[in-house]
Amino acid sequence: MSETLLDIKNLHVWFKVYGGVLKVLNGVNFNVKIGEKVGLVGEAGCGKTTTMKALLRVLPNLALIPEGDIFVRGKNILKLNSRELADLRGRGLSMIFQDPTSALNPVFTIGQQLDDIIKYSAGSSGQKVANKKNIALSALHEARLPDPERMLDSYPIQLSGGMRQRVCIAFAIATARDLLIADEPTTNLDVTIQDQVLRLIKDLVEKKGASLILITHSLGLARETTERVYVMYAGNMIEMAATSLLFKKPFHPYTQGLLASVPRLSGGGFAEGIPGRIPNYRNPPPGCRFAPRCPYAFAPCTKAMPPLIDVDDGHQVACYLYQNGQEDRRNA
Ligand code: SF4
Repeated sequence: MSETLLDIKNLHVWFKVYGGVLKVLNGVNFNVKIGEKVGLVGEAGCGKTTTMKALLRVLPNLALIPEGDIFVRGKNILKLNSRELADLRGRGLSMIFQDPTSALNPVFTIGQQLDDIIKYSAGSSGQKVANKKNIALSALHEARLPDPERMLDSYPIQLSGGMRQRVCIAFAIATARDLLIADEPTTNLDVTIQDQVLRLIKDLVEKKGASLILITHSLGLARETTERVYVMYAGNMIEMAATSLLFKKPFHPYTQGLLASVPRLSGGGFAEGIPGRIPNYRNPPPGCRFAPRCPYAFAPCTKAMPPLIDVDDGHQVACYLYQNGQEDRRNA
């Protein structure tokens, strides 16, 4: 089995807001192996991006991490000083954001922005990067952008949405050696180019031997791109399995609801939704945070958060329905 690259343990993230505290991440456990492609799925507002921002240590100032650890290659990111953190980020961690327009600086050319990224990736050692222009051209070429020379002198406003997202991919691959985080990378693109962009990301991480975290609310994208999937709900990882296993036999009622919500082109009526909404993080329900929406909730669900338990080979679920001694109440 490959070595672990990223290991997030019991991560809690809170946000101080007017009149209280939002307890968003509620003990997240998440890991990625070297060279592995992992999906992180869940509906908007469930904490996917907050988890990744905590990993990159780019949470806003009003965020607190009262508990938890984030290890990258065995180093606890939360304990690094700013110089060590810059070295680690520059050498190995990159993120592609969902909105390429706001991810690019409109007043600098693509070449100037790539130049800075390549310099930054050298870390705090002050070591000069030779052939910065060649690295930039090669990254643009690998991102399949036409005429990379001309692209270096272009401003973001001169490019289409699809080209801007490819430029963001070029920024990420110019430096990424360990881990690429793609946060809903196709959300703002036309459907006609979504597939091309996703395939490009997949090909590039495979070629570089890097790991990928694909954050998405689309189960279809996770199914096409990843080897293992985590399902997140209201600040908790509630199910994790190999992608093929999860789609074949989802255990958690929320995952089952998500799969039932996918519209089918082959007919069969309207897709079902999941009634209700994500709880208010200021005052989340005690116990399982899905209980107010769960059709199978029973007494233990409102008392304590269910732990992740093994239900199949490498398949884990956080639900009292599958705890020892509890029969599956859906069949009761
Ligand atoms: Fe539903 Fe209870 Fe399972 Fe939560 S623990 S998903 S409320 S059955």
